[in-house]
Amino acid sequence: MSITVVGSIAYDRVKTPFGERERMLGGAATHFALAASFFDEVNVVGPVGEDFGDAELAVVATRGTHIGDVERVPGGKTFFWHGEYGWDLGSRETLATELGVFADFQPKLSEPSSQADVLFLANIQPDLQREVHEQCQAARFSALDSMNLWIDTARESLVGVIERVDCVILNDAELRQLTGKPNLLTAAREVLSWGPSVVVAKQGEYGAALVTADSFFALPAYPLETVIDPTGAGDTFAGGFVGYVARHVEQGLGDQVLRQAMAYGTALASFNVEEFGAERVTRLTADEVHERVGELRRITHFEEAPVELTT
Ligand code: AMP
Repeated sequence: MSITVVGSIAYDRVKTPFGERERMLGGAATHFALAASFFDEVNVVGPVGEDFGDAELAVVATRGTHIGDVERVPGGKTFFWHGEYGWDLGSRETLATELGVFADFQPKLSEPSSQADVLFLANIQPDLQREVHEQCQAARFSALDSMNLWIDTARESLVGVIERVDCVILNDAELRQLTGKPNLLTAAREVLSWGPSVVVAKQGEYGAALVTADSFFALPAYPLETVIDPTGAGDTFAGGFVGYVARHVEQGLGDQVLRQAMAYGTALASFNVEEFGAERVTRLTADEVHERVGELRRITHFEEAPVELTT
């Protein structure tokens, strides 16, 4: 099995109450690939500018991720995002988004990227997501992420892509904004009625919820006492979720597979927030991931032990 991801490959400037980074490796596709590469072969599709360093490219290529479709544009500038978080990390403000080389990007996928079994359309302009989706005819499972910027500026194209994918992974506030439904379950059901069979609502420090036509499942975030920078947590979650799905797509995606995928996504995202940007996940080991999934299972498990209630 193999996974293709298209999305931003970026330099991020980030300030949290615990420090700041002027220019660190970021981007939705980067965070996704670092997590998904624990499970399967990953092809990253997207442009970078002439300013993009070889050291950063080597990080994108961690665990054998293919970077043949990462196009370095001569004279171009790498996507740049600048954000700042509030005191409890619960809110963040985007101070700048510079599309740079993404403004003129016309994806032309190589054979291995277009033949992938699983496709992840990470957060980027929805028209680009659609162009890549059209080139990936072999995909048996496709998922999509997006954000408020695209809901505000390109809602129609975004809905057009959502109609074509199997799974939508969005922040719960974005799910409500996209559908105009104030209730999370109703919003998820609305998206399911457009075509996808799985909706995942990311809820930041509160975890994530999974909604399909006939089931619901939720996990809290893994409890951490030290959270430094949530940037990329959503994409790292998606990398774990979609990566797990990719390894099981042949056997069919039952409820159990999707629940396990939620656990791996949650565990991987929890590492991401422990340090700035991709710093922690770049050094992460498979044993650490397994251990945290086990801990997550222990803290969320409870036995069936009904007590007689007064009527
Ligand atoms: P997350 O914290 O999961 O929402 O992802 C943050 C990452 O998304 C950062 O590394 C940014 O470079 C990237 N990003 C922020 N805004 C956008 C945007 N409008 N389009 C694509 N990627 C973005």
